[in-house]
Amino acid sequence: MSKFTENYIANFMNELVAKNPGEPEFHQAVREVLESVAPYLETSPYLLDQKIMERMVEPERVIMFRVPWMDDKGEIQINRGYRVQMNSAIGPYKGGIRFHKSVNLSIMKFLAFEQVYKNALTTLPMGGGKGGSDFSPRGKSDAEVMRFCQSFMTELQKHIGPDTDVPAGDIGVGGREVGYLFGQYKRLRDEWSGTLTGKGQTWGGSLLRPEATGYGACYFAQAMLATRGKSFEGQTVCISGSGNVAQYAAQKAMRLGAKVVTLSDSNGFIYDPEGLDEEKLEYVFTLKNVLRGRIKEYADKYPQAQYFADQRPWGIKCDIAMPCATQNEIDADDARKLVENGCYCVTEGANMPTTPEAIAIFQSHKLLYSPGKASNAGGVATSGLEMTQNSIRQKWTREEVDEHLHRIMSDIHDACIKYGTEEDGYINYVKGANIAGFLKVANAMVEQGLV
Ligand code: NDP
Repeated sequence: MSKFTENYIANFMNELVAKNPGEPEFHQAVREVLESVAPYLETSPYLLDQKIMERMVEPERVIMFRVPWMDDKGEIQINRGYRVQMNSAIGPYKGGIRFHKSVNLSIMKFLAFEQVYKNALTTLPMGGGKGGSDFSPRGKSDAEVMRFCQSFMTELQKHIGPDTDVPAGDIGVGGREVGYLFGQYKRLRDEWSGTLTGKGQTWGGSLLRPEATGYGACYFAQAMLATRGKSFEGQTVCISGSGNVAQYAAQKAMRLGAKVVTLSDSNGFIYDPEGLDEEKLEYVFTLKNVLRGRIKEYADKYPQAQYFADQRPWGIKCDIAMPCATQNEIDADDARKLVENGCYCVTEGANMPTTPEAIAIFQSHKLLYSPGKASNAGGVATSGLEMTQNSIRQKWTREEVDEHLHRIMSDIHDACIKYGTEEDGYINYVKGANIAGFLKVANAMVEQGLV
């Protein structure tokens, strides 16, 4: 790295941290992109003069609002709602809504920032945004979740629309929550439009949207593995999480011939040395999506599996790791364990699950390592396909959507190779994804003038 680039990054980060104090996740996400993009900027003084990167880190708009609601005991509860509308250069803001007790402005901004580049990579016309609340649906009744969603949407509907901002699900926001949010939007706005994606199959949802993030991550991993003449066949896979992304990543990896041996939640993980099969996975779907239970119960039902409380699955020997739970869930110690145990491919299903120190370890050992903004883009890409189907009032078949998803994941992989291949032939997927996403948005911003 040149002295110029080093100074540029240092000055940029100093200013960013001073201007956005107490937002460590946002700082982390910006630094990762900046480290890839700054050397490129040095060769492109025009983009430097245009202060494109400085503009990109400033959200176009941040909305923060009170969400009052009443619980089943009649007690008043107050949560905080957010929508960060980060960048609309290439299309309406698009990005999920997260309901989790950890949600704060830093997490919203990091997710919205990542979303800008991810959406650009999909090749579809979508800007980047993200929203959510520090409300946790866990342990709440359906009626409480509905009342919360209705109150949240009563404010949010003022700021979104099919051509303005199109939210979707994320942690804590699945089919049930999208249903309640959409119902209230439709009622208040008196319009039926594709303003949310991830909708139910009988009311505008795209086939394969629930599967898309997990399946897309596996398609991306297939492309990565192929660069080394490998495939999922016969490989042992560790997956974290047991929600939407983890469930479908497990299903696709299994169907591609892999043995999936772990799943987790925020209380611990299960290790099934025999691997999951279709019947066991069906049980996980029911446990998590219908009974809303904990992953620990898997080990009660299948005694050959072990449950490890308060631990993450990265100490289990595997060939391929797929973090599909949350940010910063693989740290340097975890990364060392994975490398020591022979893991050679890490494909992110979650957003920013790997810390910068852990990424450095993977890259120095030349692992196949892909950042979420590339490998989990199948979810938002299929949301984009849902928007298209809603606009043209059509519903595509599962096969049609799957074909689009396959092509998009393969195009993202090609973009990573184009911008990320290093002199020794190693594919730096972080660099490739960041530069490809950045360039698309940067060029659109330049062409649209100083807005
Ligand atoms: P879900 O809510 O369906 O599942 C989340 C899973 O992660 C649960 O098993 C949850 O456990 C676990 N988890 C959440 N927070 C933590 C934590 N702090 N520590 C350990 N485990 C945790 O969410 P999704 O599957 O939709 O999302 C998972 C990841 O994928 C997120 O990073 C999300 O941003 C990303 N993503 C999702 C997309 C989508 O289409 N859904 C698209 C692209 C990215 P518990 O039940 O204990 O909370």
